[in-house]
Amino acid sequence: MCGITGIFAPGHDAARLAFFGLYALQHRGQESAGIAVSDGGTIRSHREMGLLSAIFDEEILSGLSGHIATGHTRYSTSGSSVVVNAQPLLETTEIGDFAFAHNGNLTNTDELRDTLSPTTILQATSDSEVLAKLIVESDGPMMERIASIMNRARGAYSVVLCTRDQLFAFRDPWGVRPLCLGTYGEGGFVVASESCALATLGATYVRDIAPGEILQIDKHGLKSIVVPTDEATGLCMFEYIYFARPDSTLNGRAIYMARHEMGKELAKEYPVEADVVMAVPDSAIPGGLGYAQQSGLPFVEGLIKNRYIGRTFISPDPTMRARGVQLKFNPVVENLKDHRVVVVDDSIVRGTTTPRIVQLLRDAGAKEVHVRITSPPIKHPCFLGVDMATYDELIAANYTVDEIRQKIGADTLGYLSLDALIRATGRKREEMCLGCLTGAYPNVPAAHQSRELAV
Ligand code: AMP
Repeated sequence: MCGITGIFAPGHDAARLAFFGLYALQHRGQESAGIAVSDGGTIRSHREMGLLSAIFDEEILSGLSGHIATGHTRYSTSGSSVVVNAQPLLETTEIGDFAFAHNGNLTNTDELRDTLSPTTILQATSDSEVLAKLIVESDGPMMERIASIMNRARGAYSVVLCTRDQLFAFRDPWGVRPLCLGTYGEGGFVVASESCALATLGATYVRDIAPGEILQIDKHGLKSIVVPTDEATGLCMFEYIYFARPDSTLNGRAIYMARHEMGKELAKEYPVEADVVMAVPDSAIPGGLGYAQQSGLPFVEGLIKNRYIGRTFISPDPTMRARGVQLKFNPVVENLKDHRVVVVDDSIVRGTTTPRIVQLLRDAGAKEVHVRITSPPIKHPCFLGVDMATYDELIAANYTVDEIRQKIGADTLGYLSLDALIRATGRKREEMCLGCLTGAYPNVPAAHQSRELAV
């Protein structure tokens, strides 16, 4: 995961717009962030490890003057968590410099790396740099260079790229990671991973960028081409389940409504006699509300989240991740004591969070704890940009649902069915990447995928 944004806004301070755009996308990555800006002549950039608020201050933003920008907030899935891997990456070609921000994960990085010239020096360890270098080593104008890599790079890549006088945005032919387009003021455009960033900036959402589409934006306006492909699309289902912000819209469907519907479907599939419904904040709240509405049970806040502690999962260090769960939530005893509680969460991945949540609820006096998950069991890793753990770490790859119920200490456990999940998104099964749920990925080489499941 990562959050990316691109700004083309004549007469406006693009760095500041990129900064606020990234702020709205910070949930997509918290390890490092950066902004590169062009004033039409020179590209300047700043990138560092850490949260945006710690990286950028008035002085740094004022030094980044210009009307074209790309911004990136990173969550590492390929390459380690160090500053050389922070983006935007800056590259030089014979047609000029460019800054490059990538969200996703390539699945043929090694193969692509082997095609690079032996004199090319890679500074970072990420697949993003290989993608950027392919553009450097291609021929022709930028649009042609991008089109040429679209036919070679496999996996997930939503990218924004700025040159001295143009902004480009493109999405891999499968459309795995989201990317949308908005207009801004007079002749301005904003591109962002999620529509919530456009709303934050006061930009007007126009549409999602299509799979395989390349946009070129400059003083002459917007030009678009779609690279032809026979591949089926594969938008990541996990964006709907967990990753995207609920106030974003993906392919015309508000994420909030999709999650609310998932909760309603879950209540139909796994009803239970209980006193209250609660959700694990924040990501499961729409699902919890949907469950409550469908079941007719009251929705309560059973846990209060300390919002100043980041997403536990996003920290790549497992010890910090484990400790983070305890630091993050406090029970509201009055809503739980002597109650039969339905607790809705969006996913169980490694199985670190859920047992702790169940224990917290029991310690607060809950009489029964019924866990309801608004996704099917996650049985397979993600090769396309979500830090989803390995087969060995994934609890559902190694245990049956009843074994998981025992491990998490719940009275009952219900996972949403795949059919109901797909219905809730309003999309067709064949348009989605369901790799983490079914093991069938749209564009991952078979060698990556094979694994006999224990159950
Ligand atoms: P786990 O503790 O590994 O089972 O993770 C499940 C919890 O982490 C759930 O509460 C989810 O809301 C959240 N979660 C699931 N997937 C991710 C992810 N890729 N990044 C961050 N958080 C996640």
